[in-house]
Amino acid sequence: MSYVDEVFSMVVEKNPSQPEFHQAVKEVLESLRVVIEANEDAYRKDALLERIVTPERQILFRVPWVDDKGQVQVNNGFRVQFNSAIGPYKGGLRLHPSVNLGIIKFLGFEQIFKNSLTGLPIGGGKGGSDFDPKGKSDREVMAFCQSFMTELCKYIGADTDVPAGDIGTGAREIGYMFGQYKKIRNLYEGVLTGKGLTYGGSLARTEATGYGLLYLTEEMLKCNGSDIKGKTVSISGSGNVAIYAAQKAEQLGAKVVTVSDSTGWIYDPEGIDVELLKEVKEVKRARLTEYAAARKSAQYHEGKGVWTVKVDVALPCATQNELNLDDAKTLVANGVYAVCEGANMPTTLEATQYLQQNGVKFVPGKAANAGGVATSALEMSQNSERLSWTFEEVDSKLQTIMVNIFHNLDDAAKKYGMAGNYVAGANIAGFLKVAEAMTAQGIV
Ligand code: NDP
Repeated sequence: MSYVDEVFSMVVEKNPSQPEFHQAVKEVLESLRVVIEANEDAYRKDALLERIVTPERQILFRVPWVDDKGQVQVNNGFRVQFNSAIGPYKGGLRLHPSVNLGIIKFLGFEQIFKNSLTGLPIGGGKGGSDFDPKGKSDREVMAFCQSFMTELCKYIGADTDVPAGDIGTGAREIGYMFGQYKKIRNLYEGVLTGKGLTYGGSLARTEATGYGLLYLTEEMLKCNGSDIKGKTVSISGSGNVAIYAAQKAEQLGAKVVTVSDSTGWIYDPEGIDVELLKEVKEVKRARLTEYAAARKSAQYHEGKGVWTVKVDVALPCATQNELNLDDAKTLVANGVYAVCEGANMPTTLEATQYLQQNGVKFVPGKAANAGGVATSALEMSQNSERLSWTFEEVDSKLQTIMVNIFHNLDDAAKKYGMAGNYVAGANIAGFLKVAEAMTAQGIV
């Protein structure tokens, strides 16, 4: 059996009931095959692959908190410190009822390569809890966040592990967690990113993932002789990534015709009104039915359906495995030109393969959504220098980083004889840097 297949079988055997983690490892290992096979003896002797698929540390903990009725609630807390070869662990905290160890491990594993691709000195990690902030009062959210940080603070720090937001963890949650960290550790340091602007946050961090997705998409289209201007775009999700992806797409002259949430989706042929969407989602924290009620051109549909709309570019920005093989077939039948992932692993493996086989330009999340973590790293730099850069400075660094990421993965794909395969290019470019650093640092 080849080394790649051996390691994948080991991952499945040692990590039962973690399908998302298996999926993420399979995608990466498959595209590394050509690189590994060229140097198989050395990698095998150093157990490089076994080490890269095994987290350096996994922290699982109890999170007890008291709800508004005086009832004690208990959630599971997770932090997976996956790989620190090129810098302190860095990756978000997801608060969603679907969170379990397998989900956090898939996200942490992806984060290693994503962070490497940014060109910045950050290792890979991820964390979160099965706590659901939806429908909770501010006091309940604060009680949860304080309890969560009371335990997590023992394992993180500005030079050790710097968590950030993700699904369910926005500015409010980061604020409560930062306050608790400061109180317990008596340290005012950049231990979290995504902070508010009055206490160490970076301008443009809120916009970064969505804007970055569009900067990379724009560059990719340009290098393929096309242009984002004038394109019709479908977006799924209506959270942080989706909102700012829609905003930047419209600023660049594209028309965004869909958004969605976990209960339904909007088709707005006149183009999504981003200010109205922000009001509904960021201010009122309401359902998309409120968007439809306030806008004549918008049609609301229950359930799934975003990918049935005929568009040039599809940007999945909600959650993992939200674009499956049937969706891919519909997109291809409707002539989609490009799919770029704003969310982490939103496209199933079968759907990815189908899109690639049918000539659709496909950029995976670990490259296309790296703008968020890249700007988090810029926040870390500002915190350690005790400086604040302007919005324009951060935005322009973000743009440069995203353009460089695209060229790195494009070059890697070409170098290994897979021109246009951006999945392989991203995995190879991300892997090579981490593998070199791991090798240089010995068996640790
Ligand atoms: P938010 O919580 O702000 O928004 C998530 C959106 O996705 C919401 O519209 C939500 O709908 C929808 N959604 C969540 N779970 C499901 C589900 N199971 N089925 C259908 N829809 C769902 O999260 P973000 O925008 O921050 O993150 C979105 C994706 O982008 C995630 O994969 C995240 O890991 C990734 N990402 C985020 C970064 C960031 O900087 N924020 C950076 C890099 C990647 P509802 O409100 O109804 O739950």
